[in-house]
Amino acid sequence: MRIYDNHSHTREYSLDGKQTFDELIADAEAAGLAGFMITEHYDKDLIDGIPHPRVSDYGAPAAPGEWIFPFGPVLERTQAAREQLRARGSELEILHGIEIGWLPYQNPGLWDWMAENGKDFDGIIAAVHCVDGRDIYYDRRSYEEGRKAAYGRYLDHAIDLLRADLDFDILGHFDYVERYAGFENPRMRYEEQAERLDELFRLLIAQGKSIEFNTRTRYRTLASSGIDIGAPDGAILRRYLELGGERVSLSSDCHEDHNVGRYFSDMIEWFRANGLRYLTHFKGRQAVFNSIE
Ligand SMILES: [Zn+2]
Ligand SMILES: [Zn+2]
Repeated sequence: MRIYDNHSHTREYSLDGKQTFDELIADAEAAGLAGFMITEHYDKDLIDGIPHPRVSDYGAPAAPGEWIFPFGPVLERTQAAREQLRARGSELEILHGIEIGWLPYQNPGLWDWMAENGKDFDGIIAAVHCVDGRDIYYDRRSYEEGRKAAYGRYLDHAIDLLRADLDFDILGHFDYVERYAGFENPRMRYEEQAERLDELFRLLIAQGKSIEFNTRTRYRTLASSGIDIGAPDGAILRRYLELGGERVSLSSDCHEDHNVGRYFSDMIEWFRANGLRYLTHFKGRQAVFNSIE
């Protein structure tokens, strides 16, 4: 089996990153991964969880505290690491990606700019971090009306992101709203958001985009509370497949060492048990499929 981790950060170019790129590479090799995609944060305009529209021009250096990275140096770092791996006979593949934090007012400006300036990426993740203009990591207001409203509102944003029909490959952590919910059992169940999940899946499928299953909420919750919340609700994946979904990407969203590939063997068992036959990663913006049977 050739398994890829599609989502990772370092302290060198992500403000919340803790690991170095070298640590990430060493861990990925030790974990036996075929490869990983480096996806530093690109939350244009976001400072301390609050959007500051056009706080810096596209392509200009980051404003103080802005969650973006310079494309050139990060690409050079990826290329240098690939050369070093080749020189010592390692077959680990490093894919060059990006995680774009979506904000609705940036359509289509940021994406038009990306079409010109983002051509070197193997894969583009788009992710919702802000609900109603507030980063849910920093601001808990979106949870005040309870689970149903909070989860629904988050999924509404993900649906709006898909409806904008932007040029990206993977919808990052569709269930991110679980991560900071603080509920005893934060796992979203299919039946509690069936309508929205169906709409989200139909849009993903029509646009040929991949859905990401992200293990970070699970290991973060374990670290903070000692509770293992387990795998997601299998009904979510089964419904995606039933509607014709084929593209599923597995990610750790690691920010610190020893988390790349975390819970992957468990997730692969879960994927198989729910009927998934292959995983998807992106190279040169093209989907690549690897059997997990
Ligand atoms: Zn994210
Ligand atoms: Zn991330």
